[in-house]
Amino acid sequence: MIAYRIIERKRDGVELESSEIEGFFRGYLAGSVDDCQVAAFLMAVFFRGLSAGELDALVEVMLRSGTVLDRWDVPGPTVDKHSTGGVGDKVSLVLAPLGAALGLRVPMMSGRGLGHTGGTLDKLEAIPGFRTDLSLAEFRAVLERVGCAMISQTREIAPLDGRLYALRHATGTVPSIPLIAASIMSKKLAEGLDALVLDVKRGSGAFIPEEGRALELARIMVAIGERRGLRTVALLTAMDCPLGRAVGNALEAREAMQCLGGQGPEDLRTLVLALAAEMLLAVGVADSRAAAAAAAARALDDGSAREKCAELVAAQGGDPRVVKDPALLPVGPETAAFRAPRDGVVRCVCPERLGSGVVELGGGRVRPGERIDPRVGFTLEVRPGTPVRGRQVMATAYAGSASGAARGLKILQEAIEVGDEVKGRPLPLISHRVTAAGVEEVATSRV
Ligand code: URA
Repeated sequence: MIAYRIIERKRDGVELESSEIEGFFRGYLAGSVDDCQVAAFLMAVFFRGLSAGELDALVEVMLRSGTVLDRWDVPGPTVDKHSTGGVGDKVSLVLAPLGAALGLRVPMMSGRGLGHTGGTLDKLEAIPGFRTDLSLAEFRAVLERVGCAMISQTREIAPLDGRLYALRHATGTVPSIPLIAASIMSKKLAEGLDALVLDVKRGSGAFIPEEGRALELARIMVAIGERRGLRTVALLTAMDCPLGRAVGNALEAREAMQCLGGQGPEDLRTLVLALAAEMLLAVGVADSRAAAAAAAARALDDGSAREKCAELVAAQGGDPRVVKDPALLPVGPETAAFRAPRDGVVRCVCPERLGSGVVELGGGRVRPGERIDPRVGFTLEVRPGTPVRGRQVMATAYAGSASGAARGLKILQEAIEVGDEVKGRPLPLISHRVTAAGVEEVATSRV
């Protein structure tokens, strides 16, 4: 196998043999193919795409790069949720303990910030002491004891995805349907699940903004899962503005804790309940969507999901007091308020600008392995369509220094527009449900 020949063939649009893809990535894992060659290959895939056969070979080599778990030896069905990436998307922090409170087992393996989107691991690590680098044995022990566990890519499960994920982030090759599908499905197939629920984002803040291409991504991931015996369901959800009212690691962790306490923004709660209902239905422990959503709402409102979250945080080394008292989570001490420049209506709240703004303020990485400041970010008082009066506070930037707060204010000015009418038509919070049986339109609006 000559690595540069494979890169050239992919660059020139030739369909590769499965054995070529396998040989190239096995070489990478063994050290005979280096990062710059893989980066070039990823860029070729970004432009040329992958055929169904090539994608299957990539999923297979990523999946087999580590341990493939068969089934967990724990009582209760195992089910996970994974998002294709969004801004303000703190759903996993709520959903994993909620699933456990509902009797599910949720072994969740998540990622760090990718491109302009935030990562669940960075949000969890905003909780003082919280460890996401558990070994497989520790992961299993927490899952058994608590009912959910949340970890980073390990050296044991799909390690090739961990390396490609960091390279894609550093080389602008994230927004590719086959690369996203292979990344998500390889690690989820290795998790030994009974079912998987996917949250496929679309809209200007998503990696794949267009409805048609987002549906294609959902269909491809459902097909990969089902072909390998994993019950897989996808919801297509809105990312034309941030989810909830907080963007940035510690601020989002705070908001997730509020949601677990039965409070917090309605769009976050609605999406959490819809995904929880899909998880319950996928493993057959609920008779109807309405009954599943009602059970999930009860677990949020009666404190049982929050109790599970406190158990999870303690089991993974974090300070469980933040769960009941989210104000204990440290956020940027320097703030700057963005006031409406005139009377009018909020035309847009650009998720991409806010997500990349968090990276600029130091809350995300420009290069793999960098330390981040979890305290920086933004809170929003308005959404697209909110009527505002001149000088009214629309949003606040949080930073570690006065110059950071001033930079944050500039980012807010670029992200939030006020005018006479909303820009475009807001997307429904949930628009489609994709299963092995096909695509169903669902249209759940924002509340
Ligand atoms: N989440 C992942 O795990 N991988 C991607 O490529 C995008 C979102």
